[in-house]
Amino acid sequence: MIYFKNIVYRYFLLLFFISNFAFSWGSTAHKIINLKAVMHLPNSMAELKKDSVFYQAQASVPDYRKDYNDTSFFAEAQRHYIDIDIYPNFHNLPHDLDSVIQIFGREYVRQNGTLPWTIAMVMDSLTAQLTRGDISKAESTMSDLGHYVADAHQPLHCTENYDGWSTGNGGIHSRYETYMINTFQSSISIHSETVRYITSPIDFAFEFIYSSNALVDSLLAADTYAKSVSGWNGSGTPPSSYYDALWEKTQDFTKNQIQLATIALASLWYTAWVDAYIVTAVENEMVWLQNQFKLEQNYPNPFNPETEIRFTLHSDNHITLRVYDCTGKTISTLIDEQREAGTHTVRWNAVEFPSGFYFLRLSGIGFHHTKKMIFIK
Ligand SMILES: [Zn+2]
Repeated sequence: MIYFKNIVYRYFLLLFFISNFAFSWGSTAHKIINLKAVMHLPNSMAELKKDSVFYQAQASVPDYRKDYNDTSFFAEAQRHYIDIDIYPNFHNLPHDLDSVIQIFGREYVRQNGTLPWTIAMVMDSLTAQLTRGDISKAESTMSDLGHYVADAHQPLHCTENYDGWSTGNGGIHSRYETYMINTFQSSISIHSETVRYITSPIDFAFEFIYSSNALVDSLLAADTYAKSVSGWNGSGTPPSSYYDALWEKTQDFTKNQIQLATIALASLWYTAWVDAYIVTAVENEMVWLQNQFKLEQNYPNPFNPETEIRFTLHSDNHITLRVYDCTGKTISTLIDEQREAGTHTVRWNAVEFPSGFYFLRLSGIGFHHTKKMIFIK
């Protein structure tokens, strides 16, 4: 009985080990990425920006959900990777899931990882939750999305040779993502950049998965190099000189991947937020119709580089119509004068400005109304 208990105990330990430690960027990188991504968000997203500590705390939750008996297509265990290079001519793989399943079969696609489609699916959930105004659900989904986006930036989550066994680099996965990152985490810092609106999350996911895959060879070569300079033969615990050498060779792209993961994540959060807002703005429009004036959504939107803005005044009024960038700075005053009752049209050309999200604000005596516009070059 004691023997049996011991076996069961070992089995659980093993399961715990597999599900929590192997194959998932280590919890350190996940925490850094989920915590830091908010720094790229515009201040207009303050409500979601302030909860970075929550995103950090939830960063590894998807790993704890893995259930290796779950055989459903989007089972948790297969969401964290894609063995992208197992597909012939993989740079031309269709991005559409149905097409890939049609060519390779459902079970084959599932077992080789569903990471890009998981990212697209989680984006849909996030957009729907933000549209409904369910902030607490949305924040959990934002944390999950952070986990998957981070995994997609770990080169060994994007290759068939994910643990180095086919090249004599067996065990590299956890040496790289857990032990090395834990040792050198204090040298990782994230700098602020600008988010962008992502027109197609699935294409975007494939883009960063291909970039991660392109680093696999350098990573494996670094392992081989570190073994040779440290004299470690691959059995037992590597000496610290092994990790020093592994870091020396991988730190540049590793830091870059973590930086890129934070920007990709922030851009996806921002995209879901913009998409959710546009749906909400259409509903709000109904309320404004009954009021003294009406500012319509610019058309087209998103636009490049010119868009048309239309508004209606029910009485003569001195009005201003201004465009603000995502930080709230005025970048263009389109109208600042007395206008008569009626419908007016103005065009705005954004050619001199970067792609992104802009606010359009119509103000007059006793009213103001703001719309958001998306400029995509
Ligand atoms: Zn993971």
